[in-house]
Formats: sequence, C-alpha cells, structure tokens
Amino acid sequence: MPHLTTNVAVIGVGAMGSAALWQLAERGVPAIGFERFVPGHDQGSSHGESRIFRTAYLEGPGYVPLARRAVELWRRLQEVSGVPLMTENGALMLGQRESSVITATMRSIRAYDLPHELLDEDELRARYPAHRVDPGEVAIYEKDAGFIRPETAIRTALARADELGTRVLSNTVVDRIELGPDRVRVIAGDVVCEAHHAIVSVGTWLGKLLPELRLPLRVTRQIPGWYPIERPELFTPDRFPVFLRDLGDHRRAGVDLAADSTFYGFPTLDGKTIKVAVHREGSLADPDALNRIVTQEDLAEVRDYIGAFLNGVSTEPMRTEVCMYTNTPDHDFLVGSPPGMHQLTILGGFSGHGFKFSSVMGEVAADLAVNGKTEHPIDFLSLDRFLRKSAASRG
Ligand SMILES: Cc1cc2nc3c(=O)[nH]c(=O)nc-3n(C[C@H](O)[C@H](O)[C@H](O)COP(=O)(O)OP(=O)(O)OC[C@H]3O[C@@H](n4cnc5c(N)ncnc54)[C@H](O)[C@@H]3O)c2cc1C
Repeated sequence: MPHLTTNVAVIGVGAMGSAALWQLAERGVPAIGFERFVPGHDQGSSHGESRIFRTAYLEGPGYVPLARRAVELWRRLQEVSGVPLMTENGALMLGQRESSVITATMRSIRAYDLPHELLDEDELRARYPAHRVDPGEVAIYEKDAGFIRPETAIRTALARADELGTRVLSNTVVDRIELGPDRVRVIAGDVVCEAHHAIVSVGTWLGKLLPELRLPLRVTRQIPGWYPIERPELFTPDRFPVFLRDLGDHRRAGVDLAADSTFYGFPTLDGKTIKVAVHREGSLADPDALNRIVTQEDLAEVRDYIGAFLNGVSTEPMRTEVCMYTNTPDHDFLVGSPPGMHQLTILGGFSGHGFKFSSVMGEVAADLAVNGKTEHPIDFLSLDRFLRKSAASRG
C-alpha cells in the first residue's frame, strides 16, 4: 500500500483545488493533490469554455474585496505563465430600474464606490443593438469585468504548482478522511497519505465525501447552450460585453419566463455562436449519475428568452453541455473548518457563482491550512451558519 506524507493534502483538483495547490506552491508548502478524473475535465462544475467575472457584485457587497483580490491573482497567473486566461471586455447588468440585478449591483457599487456607467433605455439600444430592450429597462456597465477560461485557468494554475514542485494524483478517488488530533489520513484506494491539514474542494461530491457534516447542499443540473448568430460583428468581445439580465416578473404574450430566472451570456469566441444560459436553482442531480441527455424541455426557457430578448440569435443551439451547481440555501459559499475539525478546510457550496473567486479561495485556503487564519473577510461564508442549525435540529 503506497504511503505518502506531506504538509497539505488537497482533495479535489477542480477550480478551487487547483488554485489552492498553486497558492501553497507559491509559499513553498509541500502539498499533494488528489483528483477523481484528470484536471480540466468536463465531469464537474468547471467546464464549458467561459465564466463571468465581475466586481460590482449583486450577490452582496461582502464579496467585493474578494472579487478585487481574485482579479489581481488571475492577472498575476496570466503574467507569470504567459497564458491568456481572461478577457476584460466588461459586463452589462440589465433589468428594470427596481429589479434585483440593478438594485443589488448598485448596493455594492455604492458601498465601494466602484466605477460604472448607468445606461438608460435609449443608450442601451444604441450601444448594444443585439439586446432587445423593453420600455423602462436600464443597464449597469462595469468596465473591469469580463470572462475567464475555466479549463485553461485550472491547467495553468496546476502547471505553475507543478513547476514549483507540487504533485497531483489524477484518476485517484479519495474514499475517506480520518482525523487525528493534529494530523489527517487521506485514503484513496490503496494509497494512504498522512498530512498536517487537508483542503476539501470536491465540488458537487462534498455531501457524499463528508455526509456526517449534514451540509444543506443541493446539487443541480445546468445546461448552457451555444446558439448560432446571424451577424458575428455584433457579438465580438469589444461590441458585446458579458451580460446578466433580470426579467423580474416579466411576462410577454407567448413567453412565460420564471420570475427567479436570470439569463446570462458571452460574446462569440468562434465567430459562429454565443453561449447563453439561465442562472437559477435547477433540478436535483447526482454527480455519479448525471443525466447528460438534453431535451427540448430543458432548453425551453432559454429558447423563449432568446426569441424575445436577443436580436439575430437562433433559438436552436448548435451544441449544449451539462454542468452542475452545488447550491447552499442562501447561495453564499461554505469556506472554513467545521467546528472541532481545525485539520480540515472546506471550500464548497459555490452555488453557481464561484469560479471567478477560485484564485482568492486558493489564497484563503493556503492561509487557513498554514496559519489557521486569514486576513480575507470570509466570516459571512462560515460553515457555522448551517452547522449550528443542523446540530440544533438533531436535538
Ligand atoms: C453552467 C455553469 C455556469 C457557471 N457560470 C459561472 C460564472 O459565469 N462565473 C462564476 O464565477 N462561476 C460560475 N459557475 C460556478 C463555478 O463554475 C463553480 O462554482 C466552480 O467551478 C466550482 O468549483 P469547485 O472547485 O467547487 O468544483 P469542481 O471544479 O467541479 O472541482 C471539484 C473536483 O473534485 C473532484 N473530486 C470530487 N470528488 C473527489 C474525490 N472523492 N476524490 C478526488 N477528487 C474528487 C472532481 O472530479 C472535481 O475535479 C458556473 C457553474 C456552472 C455549472
């Protein structure tokens, strides 16, 4: 039975795990990564070519300092590697003035005095003719935003970690973690690894690997699609920022779009299609038995959205992908140690908006693994907010 020892074991080498390994390696901390598949794969939450990043954060001002640091770290990785990871082509948040996308984004902008432009309906139509704009709709344009390439970012962070001497065991599933007073044993088939600390970043598998924590996680199925465009020149990154659009309780004749759905999309990367999807809770999924067959019903909402709100975009996708969210009840992340388990750091529950933060989450996890604390403002992401409740409900 191979027996390994290291300082930090990183379990799950996707978005968060690869960034944690990179950040540990930058500090010269010996670490080993364990990955169920081969990093950069398409079986979890981090595939599909593009992820939005933005700082004027509608999910809450608490995320703004983390988003700022995340962008700095992404730029640094880009610089040291020479690999283009980000396209900083701006983001448009569209909705009625009182819609939650607009009001919540404005809260973060005011709290941190973030640069932005508020566009009225006429300006919006003139600048972005691909969006079909409703009376009274406005948009916030954030220039320091755009998209990042997830698979490339994961591979690049790992290449940097590898350069600095860190190793990853691919195709290696961790079966269980045993906690000693000041050590952790990670068991993966016939491999046993002793470490001082383990970072658990297994994405949708978190509830399965640590069922005893009874974390209130919902793994859900999500389906982005690539839809053909008629006039590619209207959808290039410089003409078509990434967007998020809140329809509120919008209803149109023949269109029935759920009130809690936010639609989002990216500029064209192939000159033929744009990627469009809906951000919402989604239907329950099992990461070990994910239904990858996409039906017309799965696509109905996005098709209706495109038909009603985008000009020159076909409602029939050229291709689709199935991906998963790991949602928490409040859609805030779960970051830190479970009570009484200081040898473990959990990075989980990223609720469909975590990728942009993975660089800074790697830094947070390295701080926690090495120093037991971090300067980053992560109290609002603490596991305690759910674990106290689930302990109380168990009596
Ligand atoms: C369709 C879609 C669109 C999204 N859009 C955005 C966006 O625009 N912007 C944004 O910021 N975020 C977005 N997100 C969210 C973001 O992609 C996720 O929050 C992020 O990728 C989660 O990273 P992770 O490291 O937790 O999971 P993953 O990257 O899936 O990594 C978990 C890893 O753990 C491995 N693993 C699991 N179990 C084990 C085990 N027992 N042993 C060893 N390895 C194991 C898995 O194989 C996997 O590689 C989107 C997500 C989806 C699905």
